[in-house]
Amino acid sequence: MAAEALIELRGVNKHYGTLHVLQDIDLTVGRGEVVVVIGPSGSGKSTLCRAINRLETIESGSIHLDGRPLPAEGRALAQLRADVGMVFQSFNLFAHKTVLANLMLAPMKVRKQRKEEAAQRARELLDRVGLASQADKYPAQLSGGQQQRVAIARALAMEPKALLFDEPTSALDPEMINEVLEVMRQLAREGMTMVVVTHEMGFARSAANRVVFMADGRIVEDRTPEDFFTAPRSERARDFLSKIL
Ligand code: ADP
Ligand code: MG
Repeated sequence: MAAEALIELRGVNKHYGTLHVLQDIDLTVGRGEVVVVIGPSGSGKSTLCRAINRLETIESGSIHLDGRPLPAEGRALAQLRADVGMVFQSFNLFAHKTVLANLMLAPMKVRKQRKEEAAQRARELLDRVGLASQADKYPAQLSGGQQQRVAIARALAMEPKALLFDEPTSALDPEMINEVLEVMRQLAREGMTMVVVTHEMGFARSAANRVVFMADGRIVEDRTPEDFFTAPRSERARDFLSKIL
């Protein structure tokens, strides 16, 4: 039996002017599933992620989270953003706040946690991503890999139902990529539902339940990593893989 759907997109369409950036997208992400999204630059991967978090609106179709349509505004929208954490290529930490304060901010504001509770939880999360000793530093004092691990811990602080990653390692020096992927692998093992846009094919092979290949705003293939990497069906996917592998 397929896992219960946590994220469900049906017939989703979006344009930017005349560019049809999302074309009839159907995608189901089951609870606890890890879906890796790959595809050429400009194929709509970031727009897809942003639509799931309602950072972008859609023109037709539907997106459900946990059986409910995405809320359009107000408190319910803030709640959605808390339920679906997002980790970007640029770490987007608050530069003038310490690492600990970065993790405490949203839980206090949105989840209404008390300061002590938020601080304790923040320290636990930093420990989990291997950064317990960095709590009182400022983002600029950390390496890129450390900053991205803080960004992941900050997303986790909201106790999200799912996490979206948009090229989380693309801005990192090569030697830092693995420490971030290792944190993500750990989350996957713990059962976190994840949608991950990445060019790290090793991660896709080892951690993904499914690989979604996008081209020109469409989902061209949606298969297990084993099937996809050993026998891509589409010319587009074969062409893409020949360029990056
Ligand atoms: P990917 O993440 O796969 O590289 P994106 O989702 O970022 O692709 O972009 C898909 C297409 O939409 C690209 O051609 C991009 O230039 C265009 N696009 C993205 N955001 C906007 C925007 N805010 N306004 C106009 N065009 C956009
Ligand atoms: Mg992108």
